[in-house]
Amino acid sequence: MMATTHALVGVLLGSATLLVAPELAPVAVFAGLFGGLFPDFDLYSGHRKTLHFPVYYSIAGSALLGVAVLVPTVWTIAVAVFVLSAAVHSISDAFGGGLELKPWLGESERAVYDHFRGRWIPPRRWIRYDGAPEDFVLAVFVALPSIVLYDGVIQTLVIVAVLVSAVYALLRKQLVVAAEWLVGRIPAPMLDYIPDRFVRDFVQ
Ligand SMILES: [Zn+2]
Repeated sequence: MMATTHALVGVLLGSATLLVAPELAPVAVFAGLFGGLFPDFDLYSGHRKTLHFPVYYSIAGSALLGVAVLVPTVWTIAVAVFVLSAAVHSISDAFGGGLELKPWLGESERAVYDHFRGRWIPPRRWIRYDGAPEDFVLAVFVALPSIVLYDGVIQTLVIVAVLVSAVYALLRKQLVVAAEWLVGRIPAPMLDYIPDRFVRDFVQ
C-alpha cells in the first residue's frame, strides 16, 4: 500500500481517541500519521525489513495501549498510537503486493519480514500493489471520516494526502519507467547507493 494510505489509516486510528479523550485527539492523530509513515523510512535500506516489525510492534503497541489506558497523558497516548499505527502498517503490507520493482507483475514472494519467525511473509495481494486503483479507493475510504471529523490543519493534511495518492496512483507505472531511465544512466560506482531492487532489475 502507498505510504499515504498507511498515514491515513494512522490518522483514523488516532481518531479513536475522540471517543474517550477528545482533548488528546489532535496529538493522537499526528502520532498515528507519523507512525503510519515511519516503517517506510527503510525504503532505501532493507525495505520492509529494517523498520517493519509486524509482530514486535503489535506486542509493544498492545502493552503501550494498556499503559495509555491506565495513565492517559499526551505522551502515553502519542507513543501508543504511534507504535500501533506502525504495527498496522507492517501487518497490512502483507495484504499488498510483493517487494519488487514492478509489483503488478506479481513475481515476488516477499511482502514484509517477520523478525519473530525469521522469514518473509508472502504477499496476499488483496491490494495488488502500492498505487493500484484499489489502493487509491482504500485511501479515499479511510480518509472520508477524517475529512468530516476535522477542520483546519488536520483536514487539510488529509486532503493533501488524498491528492498525493491520486497523483501517485495515476503515475505509478510511469514512475518505474522514469526510474529505469535514470538508473540506466547512473555511473557504475554510484550504483552502490541505489536500492538493490532497482539495480538488480535494470543493470544486469
Ligand atoms: Zn511498508
